[in-house]
Amino acid sequence: MNYFGNKEFDFSFLEEGLTARDVLEQKINEASLSGNKDAFYVADLGDIVKKHVRWFKALPRVTPFYAVKCNDSKAIVKILAILGAGFDCASKNEIQFVQSFGVSPERIIYANPCKQDSHIRYAASGGVEKLTFDCESELVTVARNHPNAKLVLRITTDDPKAVCQANSKFGAPLKICRTLMQRAKELNLEIIGVCFHVGNRCTDPQRFVQAVSDARYVFDMGAEFGFNMSLLDIGGGFSGTEDTKLKFEEVTSVINPALDKYFPKDSGVQIIAEPGRYYVASAFTIAVNIITKKVIVTEQTGSDGDDPSYAKTFMYYVNDGFYGSFSCTLYDRAHVKPLLQKKPKMDEKYFPSSIWGPTCNIDDRIIERCDLPELQVGEWMLFENMGAYTEVASSTFNGFQRPSIFYVISRPYWQLIHDIKEHGILPEYLQLGEAK
Ligand SMILES: *Cc1c(COP(=O)(O)O)cnc(C)c1O
Repeated sequence: MNYFGNKEFDFSFLEEGLTARDVLEQKINEASLSGNKDAFYVADLGDIVKKHVRWFKALPRVTPFYAVKCNDSKAIVKILAILGAGFDCASKNEIQFVQSFGVSPERIIYANPCKQDSHIRYAASGGVEKLTFDCESELVTVARNHPNAKLVLRITTDDPKAVCQANSKFGAPLKICRTLMQRAKELNLEIIGVCFHVGNRCTDPQRFVQAVSDARYVFDMGAEFGFNMSLLDIGGGFSGTEDTKLKFEEVTSVINPALDKYFPKDSGVQIIAEPGRYYVASAFTIAVNIITKKVIVTEQTGSDGDDPSYAKTFMYYVNDGFYGSFSCTLYDRAHVKPLLQKKPKMDEKYFPSSIWGPTCNIDDRIIERCDLPELQVGEWMLFENMGAYTEVASSTFNGFQRPSIFYVISRPYWQLIHDIKEHGILPEYLQLGEAK
């Protein structure tokens, strides 16, 4: 029964009644006793399983292909492989990594529109056939290295409101699709479908609707060229946290009718998506320790002879930062906010504060300004929702090591993984997919 038996990574079972947050508190207590206060993560693998079930409840027609770049932890890839998800890979190494978990090539889409020859040849040798592209030169490269590829044409979607624009770098405008199809024909290549990526944390579900409608237009064009258009890939960008303006289900409730309208069930088109953050963001919480504190006192002159008063601001230096797990504040435009490990008192006074990482680089700052009670060196700050684009993009700049990650799972979710492997997602599991 134990699919994890090969000791590739460690995880522990949650004792009955305990949550991942309890484990985090235990680790903090242990750290305080041992004096080793390194930053660390606790990752709740049950949360990943919950997300998987919730996905099928919200998007029953769409098969998820997890975007590995978002968090390539072995535990996550392994669990999603067992659960039967597909994978969006963007490089030779990602393909190799996913295939090392026994994932068959049909469950992989090589979803980087701009690829190096040797990586394409690697995909071909591993039997990976679904490749995305968005320009003529890529068609030439694919024809040279993988003539049997099943190509998926990535089109642009413009969401002026998405947090990260995905379309300044990738995607073919509709007006060049005909030329691309013509070129693919000349090169004897096969196009099987259309994909898009609306951008990260898309806040306007109408972008999906527009993109699905555009995809329909390109499907019809493909049919005119004689291509067997059979795959629609609606990309990623689904929020993985509850702090967004629109909940995941509010977005999907707009997407589903668009899918039914433009790609009805009887069209026979397979629909997939490439969620990244959706699966992993909320599973990870990081605990960082305050290593240094500075207080800055500024005198504020009182009016008309009042005694001057003093305003205090605090600078806290913690032991993970911008060059570690918090690069997401720049690369993923993430807004992080600290939770205090100790509950503040009711009448606690708050001060303007800034939070800095441990390296000597002056830009190593996590938060420019937030209001916090006065904290002490040695106390902990917690950051939730730290599973997406964090550890994967971290460095050991200045000699600071990456935090350890403690993976935990409860017995019921462990059991559920095995049940899903045996029976697929049974209707009764869907009850578990309720939002927290
Ligand atoms: C990064 C990426 C994704 C995943 O994006 P999320 O916002 O994490 O869901 C999906 N598809 C492509 C092509 C990507 O580059």
